[in-house]
Amino acid sequence: MLGIRILIDYLVVFFKFVHGKRIQPGNASFRFSFRDTFFEWILFSLFFAALLYVLVLLDRTHTGQLSVVMIFVLVAAASPIYGFVIQPMLSLFIYKETYRYIEETKALEQWVLTTFKIKVNIRLLDKEVVNAYATGVIPFSKLIILGRPLFDGLSQDDIKGLILHELGHTVRHHLLVLYGINVVTYSIGVVASYYLFPLYETTPYAGLFVFLHGAVFYGLLMALIPGLVQRRIEYAADKFAAIHAGAAYATALTNLNILSEGGLMKGGLNYPSLKKRLARIHEVY
Ligand SMILES: [Zn+2]
Repeated sequence: MLGIRILIDYLVVFFKFVHGKRIQPGNASFRFSFRDTFFEWILFSLFFAALLYVLVLLDRTHTGQLSVVMIFVLVAAASPIYGFVIQPMLSLFIYKETYRYIEETKALEQWVLTTFKIKVNIRLLDKEVVNAYATGVIPFSKLIILGRPLFDGLSQDDIKGLILHELGHTVRHHLLVLYGINVVTYSIGVVASYYLFPLYETTPYAGLFVFLHGAVFYGLLMALIPGLVQRRIEYAADKFAAIHAGAAYATALTNLNILSEGGLMKGGLNYPSLKKRLARIHEVY
């Protein structure tokens, strides 16, 4: 019975993954090649299949409270690992054609190292992605990714401004915070499944309840809580960039908005609008 419950959890997470990347992409819409996506699906599936196997084994060998706690810890800790740990490493070590190390990124890494004494990997994402983002929680895999259009359409100062924002995320350990928030949120879902699914099974509407459960605990909660946290984090990263670059950072954001044809205007649950961001930035310098 537990195996089935975990399998449902797994499927929910799997389809969530297929639907949208768990990495922090800012508000960019970006597509990966079919080959890359397929490879990631397989890795992700193997990862969860192994986890599922461990859980089923545990359920057979342990009974009562201990297995509940162990399952809780295992599933909760494992779920966000893919986006925050495995995917950055894939970007750095496997997808070298997509995430390219070129003269410009090497120079930017040097600039960060000499100015801030921080070792961070910077790569060019060789796709039509008008955005920059930071990823990777493990020190040597900390990564800032810049889409190709940024190099074609922005000045060196603009690019440095955007890197400062991403560096703000790195310096303030925002990814670790987001990882933690994801673990906590996912844990709530797992524990809720563990205790509520047996109750659903006693009713004639088990299917409906499982559906609603997925919508609330995995859909709504997983979007809402990390989303609201990320919103705060974006302001903090802007502040870091504004402290170090001043008005040049406001210019960088404005130019990025023009380059992305107004992509920064709207904002969303996890991202404040450009207008709000600029107003906050103005308070700093
Ligand atoms: Zn950001």
